[in-house]
Amino acid sequence: MHNPAIADEYEWPTCTACDKQLWDDEYERQICRPCEDKTRDRLTELPALFVQLNSTAAMVRGASGGGAPTSGSKTPPIPPRLDVLNLVAAGGVAARLQAIEDSWRVALGRRIEHRTDRVRLFGSWRTHPATAVPEHITFLKINLQRAADSYESVAQDVEEIRRLHAECKAAAANERRPGRVQTGLCPVRIEGQLCRAQLTAVATSHRIRCGTCGTEWADLGAWRTLRQQQDDVLIELATKTGAAA
Ligand SMILES: [Zn+2]
Ligand SMILES: [Zn+2]
Repeated sequence: MHNPAIADEYEWPTCTACDKQLWDDEYERQICRPCEDKTRDRLTELPALFVQLNSTAAMVRGASGGGAPTSGSKTPPIPPRLDVLNLVAAGGVAARLQAIEDSWRVALGRRIEHRTDRVRLFGSWRTHPATAVPEHITFLKINLQRAADSYESVAQDVEEIRRLHAECKAAAANERRPGRVQTGLCPVRIEGQLCRAQLTAVATSHRIRCGTCGTEWADLGAWRTLRQQQDDVLIELATKTGAAA
């Protein structure tokens, strides 16, 4: 380690991700080893988190999508979870990992893989997140050490991976906490006034009940009605605000 007395006049190189001073044997690196290790751990955990969120998303779509509910379905209704849907969509985790992979490929002199069926080139939105996510993660893990050594902008990607991992973890954890899932504000009108109480639901029950006005939505069909009522209220409020402005 360096002598702190010298640090006053000489600026010792620091990790571009966490700002800690680098050790002698890290001197030529962009980020320190602990930052690299943490990033690798997060990348290792991401595929399983993504699989979990993806199956939740499938249930959410089943619960909120059109068509008659299947009677006797064993699938518990999961309240609409926009955070989950955004993460698993083509523009979510998959696109964000791909952006990192592409910049590493450029920085490390690797070929950018074009997605093609030999006739057409496909944009990233054409790929399936469920297959793309593990592929991106495999690439990033293989190349992490080289990026940590020599890619001067690696810190921003380390931060993006930290954020992605935190968002997925929070979305997945939220799911295991029954009774804490918020499903929007109560759209019921009592004597002309909107109730607007926060509604909650649990994954194990079909029933949403407003604690303030006592209104109940008891099954998937009623959930769709609730969604519609909530949307109507939002449109109405937006129109009012727009008219007032
Ligand atoms: Zn660091
Ligand atoms: Zn209410």
